[in-house]
Amino acid sequence: MNPYEDIRIGLGTDSHRIEAGGPMILGGISIDYPAHFVGHSDADVLLHAITDAILSAAGLPDIGELFPNDREENRGRDSGEMLSLAVESFRRTGWRLSQIDCVVELEKPKISPWKDSIQRRISEILQIPSERVRVKGKTGEGVGEVGTGKLGKAICIALACRNLALDDN
Ligand SMILES: [Zn+2]
Repeated sequence: MNPYEDIRIGLGTDSHRIEAGGPMILGGISIDYPAHFVGHSDADVLLHAITDAILSAAGLPDIGELFPNDREENRGRDSGEMLSLAVESFRRTGWRLSQIDCVVELEKPKISPWKDSIQRRISEILQIPSERVRVKGKTGEGVGEVGTGKLGKAICIALACRNLALDDN
């Protein structure tokens, strides 16, 4: 590894309850499925985990501090817009996003038919190539809050890098 390159990781997780009535907003796209995540914003569990991961990698305040869920302006808010703002803050720190890797824990629907669209949409928001964005789906095997369809969860790890030699200039 280049001795002048500094790297950081950030971890983000999120969970939202699921209730009847579609569509389901996940990974910045609208999925035609008769259930949705419940939350103050549009409750996009995957984008929230990604937002926290990249903010954490750059040592920035977390999503709850940046976008409090008791503020009216954040009600029903587009999580893609919140992630875009987080990306701007991230870039201002001098860090560059190298890669993100995510897991979505969701009993239904299985996300495979939408995976490519989700990865593409996230790569647009993050302004990195889509091959640097990985999203995998897992079910709860019919057990627990995820398995019984009551809850959806997401986990994301972000890798950030920065060139120390450039920072010294
Ligand atoms: Zn959330």
